Amino acid sequence: MTEAPPLLLAVFAGAFGALIGSFLNVCIHRLPRGGSIVWPSSACPHCSRELSWYENIPVVSYLFLRAKCRTCKGAISIRYPFVEALTSVMFVLAWWYYGPGPLLASRLIFGCLLIVLFAIDLEHQLLPNAITLPGIAIGFAFSFFAEPGWIASLLGLLAGGGILYLIAVTYYWIRHEEGLGMGDPKMLAMIGAFLGWRLTLVTLMLASLTGSVVGLGLMAAGKGTMKYALPFGCFLAAGAAIAAGAGPPLLDWYLGLF
Ligand SMILES: [Zn+2]
Repeated sequence: MTEAPPLLLAVFAGAFGALIGSFLNVCIHRLPRGGSIVWPSSACPHCSRELSWYENIPVVSYLFLRAKCRTCKGAISIRYPFVEALTSVMFVLAWWYYGPGPLLASRLIFGCLLIVLFAIDLEHQLLPNAITLPGIAIGFAFSFFAEPGWIASLLGLLAGGGILYLIAVTYYWIRHEEGLGMGDPKMLAMIGAFLGWRLTLVTLMLASLTGSVVGLGLMAAGKGTMKYALPFGCFLAAGAAIAAGAGPPLLDWYLGLF
């Protein structure tokens, strides 16, 4: 951990993060719809009018436009400023926590992939291969220069993908219906490649735990059965984020219980 950052650098990291967040919003909107993420430029999803530069400023434009398109008055999703603010905060915290180096780059790319997967899974119950498969390759490539090292990374991607693949296949074999999509094993393989096998197990434990709690909560509130609970990819993303930030002390504490 490095010293607290000078204010100017923190502001720069935050602004850069917000711009990246704005790009993540484009990915979240276009990837499930099969669109290109580099072309055309941003447009209103309701009236398709191209946005001017001042309608594209992260967070600020949303507040300034009062969550509505300037011409058609169509509602702009709260997801846009939320993703931009979250990415911005992530850049500031990660920069402060890891300091400059390959681990910072690895963790920032990982965080961006998790944000995109979370948002797409929440809205479409889908974890696109276009994110998870390159994610596995990027995570493994980084492991040659940063934590967790390539052996732990390889074990992580095999264990993460393997465990969820077996669960998915077993569930299908018993119930003859899909309980877990095939995107989930690929996502946990990606998490394994970035974090290594130990933190992948922490991620799976956290995701299963929070998934069960939220699922039971929804059932108790009469908001649907277990089957229609939130998509598992969202819990994997949240679990991985916690594991990446607080995993090692969490793991020590857990192993200390035995
Ligand atoms: Zn519009």
